[in-house]
Amino acid sequence: LNNQMKLEFLSIPANVAFARVTVAAFASQIECTLSDLEEIKVAVSEAVENSIIHGYENAADRFIRIYAALTEDTIEIRIEDDGRGIEDIGDALQPAFSTDSERLGLGFTFINSFMDSFKVDSTPGHGTVVTMSK
Ligand code: ATP
Ligand code: MG
Repeated sequence: LNNQMKLEFLSIPANVAFARVTVAAFASQIECTLSDLEEIKVAVSEAVENSIIHGYENAADRFIRIYAALTEDTIEIRIEDDGRGIEDIGDALQPAFSTDSERLGLGFTFINSFMDSFKVDSTPGHGTVVTMSK
């Protein structure tokens, strides 16, 4: 198995579900359990939600890109925005750290626990790339 996909969509909240379901449908081409698919869905939702809320500060006219690649039994997913970026990735990855006092600060913690690998690259003022695999 060797398959790839690219997806680009506007930064509106309704597209969190669109992205989650689309990536899960793609991922279902590999042999994985329903609980693996559920975990992939949560990870994708958290990253896309972060791009909308934090990266683009809820502006509805920006684009988020997702690239995914399948090999025999793994999926690699990259989620990119061209938003505000992250000042300190070390802080951002801490459980319960959030720059928004209304939030729990657990999105990255969920991604880290649900996926086998997880990495964040970000340039303040330019954007953020979240890469994960399972
Ligand atoms: P929760 O996910 O629990 O609602 P949260 O979004 O604040 O809360 P995380 O998802 O763990 O928590 O993200 C931690 C912090 O990293 C955010 O508060 C935000 O400052 C920063 N961050 C995450 N993703 C992005 C992004 N795409 N662009 C800019 N900043 C981001
Ligand atoms: Mg979050």
